[in-house]
Amino acid sequence: MTHLLHRSTRLQPRRAVAASGLTITDSEGRDYIDACGGAAVSCLGHGHPDVIAALHAQADSIAYAHTGFFTTEAAERLGDRLVADAPEGIGHAYLVSGGSEAVEAALKLARQYATERGEEGRRHVIARRQSYHGNTLGALAAGGNEWRRAQFRPLLMETHHIAPCFAYREQREAESDADYAARAAGELETKIRELGPESVLAFVAEPVVGATAGAVPPVGDYFKRIREICDRHGVLLILDEVMCGMGRTGTLHACEQEGISPDLMTVAKGLGGGYQPIGAVLLSEKIYDAISTGSGFFQHGHTYMGHPMAAAAALAVQEVIARDDLLANVREMGAHLRERLTGAFGSHPHVGDIRGRGLFQAIEMVADRESKAPFDPAQKLHARIKAVAMEEGLMVYPMGGTIDGARGDHVLLAPPFIVERADIDRIVERLARAVDRALGEIA
Ligand code: PMP
Repeated sequence: MTHLLHRSTRLQPRRAVAASGLTITDSEGRDYIDACGGAAVSCLGHGHPDVIAALHAQADSIAYAHTGFFTTEAAERLGDRLVADAPEGIGHAYLVSGGSEAVEAALKLARQYATERGEEGRRHVIARRQSYHGNTLGALAAGGNEWRRAQFRPLLMETHHIAPCFAYREQREAESDADYAARAAGELETKIRELGPESVLAFVAEPVVGATAGAVPPVGDYFKRIREICDRHGVLLILDEVMCGMGRTGTLHACEQEGISPDLMTVAKGLGGGYQPIGAVLLSEKIYDAISTGSGFFQHGHTYMGHPMAAAAALAVQEVIARDDLLANVREMGAHLRERLTGAFGSHPHVGDIRGRGLFQAIEMVADRESKAPFDPAQKLHARIKAVAMEEGLMVYPMGGTIDGARGDHVLLAPPFIVERADIDRIVERLARAVDRALGEIA
């Protein structure tokens, strides 16, 4: 028994001792196919020699220098690369240590933008229900996942939530995609008017929703409308691409597929691919300009920001992705994964929806396909699927049951970008067995 504290005091997780490519091996010698990249993190798989070589080289030159004194070549090169590949209007990158911190920094930058411009009244943050933006207090406040927020609510700043754009659950029968997109985006306009436009600071959303709802893509021109509404009211658009970004959906940034650019964007998981903890906030020129012509200082210094080891790992990961044209593989293998999921679950009585983009795909479990009724959260179907899948040698990322009451359980797949056809076939075969075994346990 270790004294290391795990999130769950009831769980004793297996100990991972080695990893290579798509496989993680535990201390009992069992292999697991990493079909979810942990939490959509391991985009290059495990033990990539080029990333390891880059880490060695960085450690040999300089492992750490505090940003209060120095910058480093690795951090500068990563910042430049992020900006060169960023959506239009983005001019600067701020390196932090992970996703939650990126969201915190983005919220603070939004507020500082307002105050530097003399718009002291802008303070309301609007986000969407069934969203997750991180576990620190600011990011948790922005998120709209009641299960994660409930016990901390007295400590959270006041935020406001509108409906997500979630076709399977919210689009009405006979409602066109265009009408649904307009209705869902219209909730933002209504909320801004209700709060008073001059009091609203920012709207935060994930282009493709990850952890809370399971690879939910937007519909039609939803995000174009969101962009227009934000612009009309001087509200900043923060896109959280911590999970869906850095190539996961088949383009470097998920928002490229929506044809919009954010004012602020957060990236993390796939940025460093798990080789080092790292995240970044990408800032539009207008935010940078307001700060640089104003106080000239952003009050968000963390000891490990811009860490050279983390920057070197992220640079290497991003260079390999570009060199090996892995985004093309994400698109091709994403299509294959979708096809295999449809084959295995398309007429499954307890799979209501199969959705996602690129190598970011999910199935949503339902007790009844017709009514879309979810399983009783007390049955913890998602946790059972995870446990049985591990027995089958498969890592998947299931969530649900307790989301906003009783939405359906879902299983998220986010394999590394190096995945091949045969791997996908094996992943879906094992998942199909795990799903049926888990359903058998609660039948
Ligand atoms: N935003 C999104 C969309 C996420 O999925 C996550 C992590 N699941 C976070 C923020 C928080 O990132 P981290 O766990 O690295 O703090």
